Amino acid sequence: MEDVRAHITTYGCQMNRLDAELLAHALRREGARVVADPNDANVLLFLTCSVRAHAEERLFSNVGALKARKRREPDLLVGILGCTAQQYGDRLGERAPLADLACAPGRLAEVPDLIRKARRGRPADALDPTRTDGTREAFVAPDARLDDLELARPLGGPSPRHACVTVVRGCDNFCAYCVVPHVRGPERSRPPSAVLDEVRRFAGEGARQVTFLGQAVNKYQAREAGRPWDLADLLAEAADTRGLARLHFITNHPAAMTERLADAFARVPAVCPYLHMPAQAGSDAVLRRMNRGYTAAEYEERVARVRRARPDVAVASDFIVGFPGETEADFEATCDLVRRTRFAGGFVFKYSPRPGTAAERYTDDVPDAEKRRRHQVLLDLIQDIAGEESRALVGRTVPVFVEGPSPNPHLDAAAGGGQAESLAGGVQLRGRTPGGRIVVFDGPTDLAGEIVDVRLTRAAGVTLFGERAS
Ligand code: SAM
Ligand code: SF4
Repeated sequence: MEDVRAHITTYGCQMNRLDAELLAHALRREGARVVADPNDANVLLFLTCSVRAHAEERLFSNVGALKARKRREPDLLVGILGCTAQQYGDRLGERAPLADLACAPGRLAEVPDLIRKARRGRPADALDPTRTDGTREAFVAPDARLDDLELARPLGGPSPRHACVTVVRGCDNFCAYCVVPHVRGPERSRPPSAVLDEVRRFAGEGARQVTFLGQAVNKYQAREAGRPWDLADLLAEAADTRGLARLHFITNHPAAMTERLADAFARVPAVCPYLHMPAQAGSDAVLRRMNRGYTAAEYEERVARVRRARPDVAVASDFIVGFPGETEADFEATCDLVRRTRFAGGFVFKYSPRPGTAAERYTDDVPDAEKRRRHQVLLDLIQDIAGEESRALVGRTVPVFVEGPSPNPHLDAAAGGGQAESLAGGVQLRGRTPGGRIVVFDGPTDLAGEIVDVRLTRAAGVTLFGERAS
């Protein structure tokens, strides 16, 4: 495939960004080039997200805008891959008539074959059955090729010396609003040996930080070497890897936050004090309709479990505002949960009705203007509290994992009241505390991927500023 020049556009979550790495590797190992500029490409691949309507609309408008280019370049191929391809299935052609190939999120290893087929003018789809039509085996069978890609890909994660590793694929939670279980298939935990091989290889290549990924990563469950494994076992074993300093795992489901896993925050030194565990709402009535499987009090108890083990843990959450039937009192209950829990950060989303999900049967009755208002109120509240939590750290010296030069030094400097340009002997660098808070400080660029001690001197919003202490 030497004449293939592919460009990948990625929408959505961390899992999609890992999928983009796998896809790039699948293409390169068959001789294709992966190019940074879409204008240089003869194959345009879109790795899609269908969690909210907005991401889907952006995709279809970006694909639609290629019409003139397709006419000028008849050999140009367009591929729609991932969640939206699976969500639309046979109907994808109606929404995106320009698409030449389509592929489910679990079958990305097949994309090189699909490109070959499409070039011969043959139908080029690799889609899964629907969750109701397909057997578990139909979803599990393609995993072997995906595992092979995961194990063989080079280290090239979100920042230098940081690797993401899949531990759980799919989801069985069926939260009422969510398409993920419908498009990513049933929950499948990867064998411990595959995960650990990957961790050890990446650490051998220099990785200092590994992030385990799964939609409900703490539901990890496997059987190997004659014994059961849960996420606490996997973390303990991975933490023994030479060179590895930091382990994160996202995203945690509150109903599956066991005492054993909470203890891992205390027992396993490499496990970072960072817990991403979405609450989604603080009203029990809304949580019930969302099919989340816990009450607000149970959520708080799960957070308390982890805080007992690790008092300095930074807790982050996702929230949905404007879920069907959410009253002002329900929304206030969410704000109260935020005030009590004191999150270190959070994502807030306006409810977006998704076809085929259980919540579709409810009327989307919170007007958009009200969703926007609640979104802003909640975001401001989370940011204010997170800012206070950041300010409380000023004066401490913390180990910072350096991601690289600050992507927006001018903004960072303005927010912190510092200097925009590099100081003598360095540039403005950006890194993370063990709890995932952003730290900006001056230092040489070759610190990227290192862990250095930084004395925190001030905070602006949630961002911390400091100077090197070592
Ligand atoms: N598996 C993860 C979990 O359970 O926390 C997150 C999966 S989802 C890709 C990320 C976030 O999108 C969810 O936590 C939820 O807040 C939000 N989300 C999912 N479906 C949504 C919808 N229909 N409308 C608005 N937000 C949604
Ligand atoms: Fe969606 Fe719920 Fe599964 Fe997360 S746990 S992916 S929100 S169904």
